[in-house]
Amino acid sequence: MWDKEYVWHPFTQMKTYRREKPLIIERGEGSYLYDVEGNKYLDGYSSLWVNVHGHNHPELNEALIQQAGKIAHSTLLGAANVPSILLAKKLVEITPKGLTKVFYSDSGSTSVEIALKMAYQYWQLKDPIRYAGKKNKFISLREAYHGDTIGSVSVGGMETFHHIFKPLLFERLEAPAPYTYRLTENNDAEACKMLCLKALDTMLREHHEEIAGLIIEPLVQGAAGMITAPDGFLRGVRELCTRYNVLMIADEVAVGFGRTGTLFACEQENVEPDFLCVAKGLTAGYLPLAATLVREEIYEAFLGEPEELRTFFHGHTYTGNQLACAVALKNIELIEREKLIDSLVAKIECLAQNLEKFHTLPHVGDVRQRGMMVGIELVQDKDSKKTFPMHMQVEHNVILHARQNGAIIRPLGPVIVLMPILSMSLEELEQLTDITYEAIKTVTAQAYASCR
Ligand code: PMP
Repeated sequence: MWDKEYVWHPFTQMKTYRREKPLIIERGEGSYLYDVEGNKYLDGYSSLWVNVHGHNHPELNEALIQQAGKIAHSTLLGAANVPSILLAKKLVEITPKGLTKVFYSDSGSTSVEIALKMAYQYWQLKDPIRYAGKKNKFISLREAYHGDTIGSVSVGGMETFHHIFKPLLFERLEAPAPYTYRLTENNDAEACKMLCLKALDTMLREHHEEIAGLIIEPLVQGAAGMITAPDGFLRGVRELCTRYNVLMIADEVAVGFGRTGTLFACEQENVEPDFLCVAKGLTAGYLPLAATLVREEIYEAFLGEPEELRTFFHGHTYTGNQLACAVALKNIELIEREKLIDSLVAKIECLAQNLEKFHTLPHVGDVRQRGMMVGIELVQDKDSKKTFPMHMQVEHNVILHARQNGAIIRPLGPVIVLMPILSMSLEELEQLTDITYEAIKTVTAQAYASCR
């Protein structure tokens, strides 16, 4: 009961939360989480999209212990440390071509803040006369989610999360999201892509002088409910950014480190962004660490004269933390040694097959999958695409049903999300989809009956 008495949970309606019995996790092992009562659950959300190799991994534990035996933390202000140097080198080697420098922070949100501030300052340093009072806005997509700090909320496009903070935010231009299911009549991905790219083209033609950068979640808009972009959309966005002299910020906080089936999502369309934000999977779910990678040209704008004006005034206390960097290095070593990316091919295929039966459910409007990311959109009926009323808490009840049957999953609005740990076995993936299927089938049927 101390949880209800003392803890304020994130993204949680606390009055609703306090009515229910809390789920208190005590330990994890491989693909499973265990609560304080000893109940065992498949971790179907990778503990908020971070876990890569499973819980309580002996080698990750050992990397942490080894580093703790040397030092837990010093600082990158005026000093360096070995794990952060090695990790920066490694990140430059494994991320898309052209990214040459690494700026550390400690969450996805801060990695985005850094990209936004750097992008703005870059233009001011590049040509202070030409860009005076210009290039001070950003474009992001409708339904975009880039974090919870004020800068990252400013580039957010989710009505529910972001609207309330509007008076505190800087100006953003909103481009349409390639939400094929909602934008087109018959899930026409190509038509959706053309529509969105055309609108973005028009926006950039008109406003590019004002725009410092465009920020995008490559391939999948996660928090929006796993909106999967049509093939070629990301490439099209890159081309438009280049054409209109606007920096491209790829926010791979959610999709990085194997989630979409390649190490980074940008690889799938041969896209080289100007900034790359990574966090979540960077430490395989062990510690808070993030990085903003930039192209050499951006870094170089901060060299030269006058020196004092060319400082990037930003740095969090735990920037470059040794424990986190050591565990991140071990994570990448494991990804490479165990050929994790190759192993995903069979898992992604298995997921796709297991998901097929969801299409037959009367209250499943859309099933979206990109690699190991899945969104199942619930509707009252397929023709109208109308979602269930919020007060019915259908999605929440689906999650509770799944939990009673041994899997923890999460909803995002009307969408049930599956984010399996990348090391899950084929059997575990099947178990996860089966539990989810039963939960959706039972709960939506009951809900539909009661709202007629
Ligand atoms: N960007 C994206 C695409 C995200 O999905 C998230 C978190 N879900 C963030 C940024 C923010 O990361 P954090 O919660 O670590 O601040």
